[in-house]
Amino acid sequence: MTLPSKTLVEWRDCLRRGEVSSVELVNMVLESIAQGDKRIHAYLSYDKEAAIQLAHQTSPNLPLAGIPIAIKDNISVLGQPTRCASRLLAPYIAPYDATAISLMKAAGGIPLGRLNMDEFAMGSTGENSAFGPTLNPHALGHVPGGSSSGSAASVAAGTAIAALGSDTGGSIRQPASHCGVVGLKPTYGRVSRYGLVAFASSLDQIGTITRDVRDAAVLLETICGYDSKDSTSQNQPVEHFEAYVGRDIKGKKIGVPKEYMTSGNHPGVTQAVQSALKRLESLGAELVEISLPHAEAVVSVYYIVACAEASSNLSRFDGVRYGQRSPQARDLNEVFELSREEGFGPEVKRRIILGTYVLSSGYYDAYYSRAQRVRSLVAQDFTEAFTKVDLIAGPTAPTPAPLLGASEIDHLQTYLEDIYTVPANLAGLPGISVPCGVAEIAGACLPVGLQLLAPHFKEGELITAGYALEKS
Ligand code: GLN
Repeated sequence: MTLPSKTLVEWRDCLRRGEVSSVELVNMVLESIAQGDKRIHAYLSYDKEAAIQLAHQTSPNLPLAGIPIAIKDNISVLGQPTRCASRLLAPYIAPYDATAISLMKAAGGIPLGRLNMDEFAMGSTGENSAFGPTLNPHALGHVPGGSSSGSAASVAAGTAIAALGSDTGGSIRQPASHCGVVGLKPTYGRVSRYGLVAFASSLDQIGTITRDVRDAAVLLETICGYDSKDSTSQNQPVEHFEAYVGRDIKGKKIGVPKEYMTSGNHPGVTQAVQSALKRLESLGAELVEISLPHAEAVVSVYYIVACAEASSNLSRFDGVRYGQRSPQARDLNEVFELSREEGFGPEVKRRIILGTYVLSSGYYDAYYSRAQRVRSLVAQDFTEAFTKVDLIAGPTAPTPAPLLGASEIDHLQTYLEDIYTVPANLAGLPGISVPCGVAEIAGACLPVGLQLLAPHFKEGELITAGYALEKS
């Protein structure tokens, strides 16, 4: 039996009514992977026995009621490979659970499957995986977006009920947009980063990819909370996010940055976003044109800060402490050099080189310090904007999912397409991408996402507005 198309909340209710058991549900998901994943390659691996064992121990009365949740390959799950889709970490097995995973397990969630991604979360297409790309389930010639490529594609294809991903510059929201599912990146500090393999520590955040907004609310609630093991974790009360579903958006002021509605967007994206904004307006929201004056600088700032932090974070992968060691190495220096040379893919190397460059003496002030100063200005733009509006809306990405192979032709163009997602990470804000229409690209009709941003810790507002849009 394959997996009927149901949301996480629908499965939760089925489990509570005793119509299905957690073990049966795990088996259904496994079968749907066996049948459906060959087409899209969203999964790197899965551990049937571990999932079944947890399913036997769970209770339908818990918030997640024994539902299997698929996990991006950079989030540690005890006893499971955590490879970050890199050759370098191919032999690595996580010796502990990430805090988000232990919280999710305690809430009755069952981690099932390791999801494909861009290597070390660097990329926006899913093509940078050392284990081969994931394909977009809506059109196999197109990318699913990235770096949480497997998370978005599996939920869209129905081979996962819901998934966890990570977002450093858009890696949850952008693939969700390209695959027609809901991606929520929480406020920086809302979900512990303990056990998430670091890419850029001041930007990384774990979040959810789900079939709809209510599912996002339910899953988010289970992974949030203060954690002393993450020094940037914030001590904020965990809210009952599901209660924000179905609230009125009448009178809410939604800011539309003029810098986000430009002729640089694909015309089909502009059309879908404009019609979504009109629907929000017809539900009583007030649209306000706003300006984010430093919008032009965000991609440069992001790639300097993210690469700088990555070059430092990834120095721990030296062939000694984690993962693969080159069998060719004859001395210690060769262990470092050859293990890294053989283990990292080209995009990861490009970023380490770029990051080392901007941090090197003589260039530090010109690039890194300057980027940090502009980062504060970007954050100030949002503080200013949120004195006038409750939420900010615009496209999640300037185009629908590109063709496979396109990013190899022009890396810079691919970086530039992160323009609408990186600001939330630079400013630490929560953001959600909700499907809002479709657009034609290279002969295929593909989903378009509307991005909503809110002030720090106002995920509830994103859920209210996102749900209103989804319903409309
Ligand atoms: N596309 C961005 C990058 O390649 C974002 C990645 C992410 O959020 N992990 O850096």
